Amino acid sequence: MRHTAHGYWLEEAGPVTAAPPLAGERSADVVVIGGGYTGLWTAWQLRERGASVIVLEADVCGHGPSGRNGGFCETLWSNMPSLLERFGHERALALCEASTESVAAIGAWCEAQGVDAWFTRAGFLMASTAPAHDGVLDWILAVAPRDRVKALDGAALRARCDSPRFRRGILVPDDATVQPARLALGLRERLRDVIHERSRVLGLHHAPGEVVAETAGGRVRAGAAVLAVNAATRGIRPLRHRLSVTSSHIVLTEPVPDVLDAIRWTGGESITDARTFIHYFRTTRDGRIVFGWGGGRLAAGARLGGRIEVDAGVVDEIGRHLIAMFPALEGRAITHAWGGPIDVSPSHLPQIGTLDGAPVHYAFGFTGNGVGPSHLAGRILAALATGEPSDVGIDHEPVRVPPEPIAWAGGTLVRRAFLRKERLEEAGRPVDPLTRAVAAAPRALGIHVAR
Ligand SMILES: Cc1cc2nc3c(=O)[nH]c(=O)nc-3n(C[C@H](O)[C@H](O)[C@H](O)COP(=O)(O)OP(=O)(O)OC[C@H]3O[C@@H](n4cnc5c(N)ncnc54)[C@H](O)[C@@H]3O)c2cc1C
Repeated sequence: MRHTAHGYWLEEAGPVTAAPPLAGERSADVVVIGGGYTGLWTAWQLRERGASVIVLEADVCGHGPSGRNGGFCETLWSNMPSLLERFGHERALALCEASTESVAAIGAWCEAQGVDAWFTRAGFLMASTAPAHDGVLDWILAVAPRDRVKALDGAALRARCDSPRFRRGILVPDDATVQPARLALGLRERLRDVIHERSRVLGLHHAPGEVVAETAGGRVRAGAAVLAVNAATRGIRPLRHRLSVTSSHIVLTEPVPDVLDAIRWTGGESITDARTFIHYFRTTRDGRIVFGWGGGRLAAGARLGGRIEVDAGVVDEIGRHLIAMFPALEGRAITHAWGGPIDVSPSHLPQIGTLDGAPVHYAFGFTGNGVGPSHLAGRILAALATGEPSDVGIDHEPVRVPPEPIAWAGGTLVRRAFLRKERLEEAGRPVDPLTRAVAAAPRALGIHVAR
């Protein structure tokens, strides 16, 4: 098995040569900091609006989480309950509709630009794997329109993918999958002339109507800046209390088309269970299973840069979860494993907005769900950076995470409680009152640990 920092998708997409770093003084209408999907979609939308843009990327664009995620290109329909709670019915519905447009727009963009990112609109399934998790499906079904989220009974669910763990499910037909690295590198290639790589922004200064972004090799003067640095937002003082950083890890099987046939999983659907620390899984073009787990540890400061190495213990644990989900994979090889940071916002919803008194706009907090929503964030950020008011998706009263070390210590306790609670629930055993109380504690602070 290959444990890699960057994962299988970037390997499959093929090698790239880094763009030249920033050297000397430059100017543009907007400087975009960070070259993952959020930064690149923003740059794309800005160019479409006729604005000049420079993208500064610390490493190589698309080599962070954007090039190594699960490739679930999701709408926000399964987040409808949290959106309703946060924004009210009208805005929640508008956001979900906009997220559907974004998924469709990503597919249309790939087609128009000749980017073969394996865009497949086969829908998303959420499967309950314990009686205690059925309520998550019911919660979504109670508020989402029926043409956007459909209920599946056990037989209908298992006709699409047969796992002995599955009880019943929901289907979100608008959702798609992509080969994430091909999408990120396709965007990078089409914006190549405005990108500087190996150009970490070390300082961002602002005066009325102007920002200056500094790297080791130069400076960019611009009318506005867009911060699209994902988990590294935790290092930015005015925003650091608006997110915590955890990690997610993925294992990839050898090609197993025979198993996919046997379990009838040939339709290309992406799937998660309904746990808090979800398992997420999908297939590839050559018949492999990508199987990820969002149960990663909370990251301490040193891991904020994005390189979360895979440790063998996590891989073994995910391998066991994979076999429990699909026993027919017993004895089949896992060929690759990798992981990356997750920027968790307390509401589990992306945070998009503008810093007080500065032309600096930001988006972060995708909470492991940024592939589709980053396109929508790019649209909003491009509007903000060119001076258009935008209210879509902006959380005017964001929830904050407690200061360190309380956040880390509390988060670690809560994580353990959730893991224990879900293990007991799936085993059909009662959950003790202490575990239940610790798992419920964040809600009292307005913090969502689940969607
Ligand atoms: C293992 C894993 C699986 C996931 N699976 C899914 C999934 O299936 N579906 C889904 O929707 N989401 C998934 N996600 C989340 C998804 O990958 C992210 O939400 C999305 O990629 C965020 O894009 P971004 O552009 O905001 O961040 P990133 O891709 O992290 O890009 C940020 C960029 O900023 C750069 N940067 C940081 N600091 C600086 C600086 N000072 N100067 C310049 N550049 C800087 C970084 O190098 C990086 O390239 C997953 C994440 C992981 C880790």
